[in-house]
Amino acid sequence: MKSHEEGGAQSGMVEPWLEALMADYNRDSFKQRNQYKAQIHFRGSVLQEIVWWALQSLPDEILVGLDFDGSKPVIPEVHERYKSEFEQQDLFQGQGFVVTEAHIVNRGDSYSVHHLPEEWIDGLYAQDRGSRAGRFTHWLHTHPNAPALPSGADADAAQETTGVDLILGLRFTPEGPLPWFDDYEGVQRSLGVKEKQPRKRGFFARHRLPVLGIAPTGHSIHELQLIAFHKNGFGVNVVLVDDEGVPYSNDSKSND
Ligand SMILES: [Zn+2]
Repeated sequence: MKSHEEGGAQSGMVEPWLEALMADYNRDSFKQRNQYKAQIHFRGSVLQEIVWWALQSLPDEILVGLDFDGSKPVIPEVHERYKSEFEQQDLFQGQGFVVTEAHIVNRGDSYSVHHLPEEWIDGLYAQDRGSRAGRFTHWLHTHPNAPALPSGADADAAQETTGVDLILGLRFTPEGPLPWFDDYEGVQRSLGVKEKQPRKRGFFARHRLPVLGIAPTGHSIHELQLIAFHKNGFGVNVVLVDDEGVPYSNDSKSND
C-alpha cells in the first residue's frame, strides 16, 4: 500500500477542472443549506489528493482518516453564508474547523475497508499520530464506480465516529472490474453532473460520458459525488474551500 508519509497535511494547487466542479458543488450547498443541521468545511487540495489515492488503489475502496487544524476555524462570514436556519451547535467534534489533513488508513472491499489493520492500531500509528493513538476526528471512504450513498455497513462504522463520516463516489473509465452501479435509493450530491446518466453498459454509451478531468493514473473521471453524514443519520452540508478557507465559487458568473 502507499506509504503513510504521503498522507500528511496537504495544501496547494488544485486542477482547474476540479476547482470548477467544487464551485458548482458549493453553489448547491448554498441553495440546499436549509436541508442540513450542520456544515463542514473541507479543503479542496485535500479532496484532490484523496481522489488520486482512490484511483491509485483500485479496485479497492480506501478509508481515509481526516483531521482539522485547531488554528483554522471556519471563516465567520462564510459560516454565516452557508448557515441553515436549522443549524445546531456542538453536534460533532471538529465542528467549526476546516478539514485540512488526510491519511490513508485502510483499503479493501465495502466491508473490510472499515476494519482497521493491526499496524494502524499498534505502534506505527501511535508514532505517526502521537497522543491521539489512532483516532481521527472524521472518516472518509470511497465508492469506486458507485454513488456516494451509505450502506448498512457504512452506517454501522459511523457509530464510532466523533466527527462526521464522508463518502466519495467516483465514476471513471476505464472501469476495470467495477462497472458503474447506481441501483441505490437516496439523495446524491454530485460534483458536476446534474442529470442522471442513462443506464447503459455498452462501449459506446461509456464513450459518450463527458470527461471532467484526467487523473494522474490515466483514468477519465466522469462524475464525483461527496456526502457527509452524522452517526445519528442526518446529512451534513459540505463546503469546499481553498487553503485560505474561502469557498470555491463561480462568482464571475453570478450563479446565486
Ligand atoms: Zn461504503
